[in-house]
Amino acid sequence: MNLIEQNLTAIREKLPEGVTLVAVSKTKPIEDLQEAYNAGQRDFGENKIQELIYKQPLLPSDVRWHMIGHVQTNKIKYIAPFIHLIHGIDREKVLVELNKRAELESRVIMGLLQIHIAQESEKFGFDPKDVENLIPHLNERYPHVQIKGLMGMATFTRDTHQIAIEFKGLADFFHRCIETHGMAWDTLSMGMSGDYELALKAGSTMIRVGSSIFGARSPH
Ligand SMILES: *Cc1c(COP(=O)(O)O)cnc(C)c1O
Repeated sequence: MNLIEQNLTAIREKLPEGVTLVAVSKTKPIEDLQEAYNAGQRDFGENKIQELIYKQPLLPSDVRWHMIGHVQTNKIKYIAPFIHLIHGIDREKVLVELNKRAELESRVIMGLLQIHIAQESEKFGFDPKDVENLIPHLNERYPHVQIKGLMGMATFTRDTHQIAIEFKGLADFFHRCIETHGMAWDTLSMGMSGDYELALKAGSTMIRVGSSIFGARSPH
């Protein structure tokens, strides 16, 4: 077994039933993605549209591509034909453009609303209050976008108690949207290499793991 396969196996052993592992392959060469693919991995995440467009044709067509980064609306048209799930829908402008591009492709594109849960102000995302106002109108305004749930990123800190509180807050909000607003949601995307075990404890259904699979990324 090569290292990537070993890392994947070690993480999969810790996953509860029904949790999806998205392998975050940003900055990594195609050979690394191919190794993960050969080890059975099918969900891959990238945070730049340029990189998605470059890599998508180089891997087999049964790969499910996830856009996990901040979305520039003028580039949505390039990924609209193939993207599986967009995690970082953080403003209504993204919904407007996504709906338009999905319609032109005769598709319904799946997405997650990103919620701001961290203490850092530079992280993106909706306020929960705005989401509660928005969700009753999603289907009528954006029929070509299917929202499947929520995504969030915890504060970058060693304080595991703080991280656990943020994940629990997001999980509680996720369940409130389902129970109070009747949303048919099944996806709660939270947890990365450093905090996915805390996220799983809080009820994450999708983790986005990069460096624990592919090794550290070189800063650039
Ligand atoms: C890079 C990235 C990840 C994965 O980070 P690791 O710490 O390498 O696991 C997860 N989510 C988002 C949004 C990212 O940009």
